[in-house]
Amino acid sequence: MSKSQETSLMDQIIDRAIEQNPHSTELLKAFGPVIAKQRQLTDSITLSKLDYSAIDKEKLRAGVSVIQQISLFSTADPLKDIALSLAEAVKEGMPKLAGEMDRLSGLIMDGKLRLADYFEAHSDDENRTIAGWENALKISPSNASFLLSLVARVLLERRAREITATLGEFAWEKGCCPICGEFPSIALIEEEGGKRFLHCSSCGQDWRFTRVVCPYCENEAQTGMDYFYVENKTQESAFVCDKCKKYLVTLYRAGRLFARDMDISAISLVHLDMIMQDKGYEPMVACAWNGLK
Ligand SMILES: [Zn+2]
Ligand SMILES: [Zn+2]
Repeated sequence: MSKSQETSLMDQIIDRAIEQNPHSTELLKAFGPVIAKQRQLTDSITLSKLDYSAIDKEKLRAGVSVIQQISLFSTADPLKDIALSLAEAVKEGMPKLAGEMDRLSGLIMDGKLRLADYFEAHSDDENRTIAGWENALKISPSNASFLLSLVARVLLERRAREITATLGEFAWEKGCCPICGEFPSIALIEEEGGKRFLHCSSCGQDWRFTRVVCPYCENEAQTGMDYFYVENKTQESAFVCDKCKKYLVTLYRAGRLFARDMDISAISLVHLDMIMQDKGYEPMVACAWNGLK
């Protein structure tokens, strides 16, 4: 598929999402160019070779995600190029951030903001890296981490594709992502057969989840879990768990009529995020569009 075909497919997906969920028009228009650019980069970038033979399927079966087994980031990856093109896409969708994106791009180009420092840091130290930049470079930490999370998604999604192609089928029974360990941003239930899939917005991975437990806390008590529906809308709901007080936006799919993008779907269901957060529940994972508080 050529790049222009891909872009127009993404345009169609976004247009349809806006038609079905007009309340989320602004968010979809803001994130549309960013997500389109991410998909394009994921398809086109050249990454360094990693040794996937070190990934142990038995460990996966036991619930040890890929990122806990091998490092998925390499400082040899084209971090700068990815960050600069994503900063441009952010400016297109979110003009209010243009000034800050230009500043970040300038610092990245000058080598003052070394992206490798962030991706080399262990996950606990990532925030410390950003805090260091905040002090030394006087940048907004939230905008810097937003841009970095967009870069990480491109790198991780490409790795996730390579890994699933290399590994073939593998057993995974956790509610968090088998590749990057993050919790899901949205679930999809096929109306025919009722198969449930979870989607990770950090790396784009989808996985089947067969257990009747809360994906977040693994609560098994049927009484503490429920699905919340908005009136007249049978295709969408929020799974809620009263033990951990988390929710998971859930979409029902009848057939495969249209191409779907799960991140676009998650954004278009943001009204459910508002309702659930108003009721005192928290999302299983914080995303750029569901941090409403
Ligand atoms: Zn993931
Ligand atoms: Zn729970």
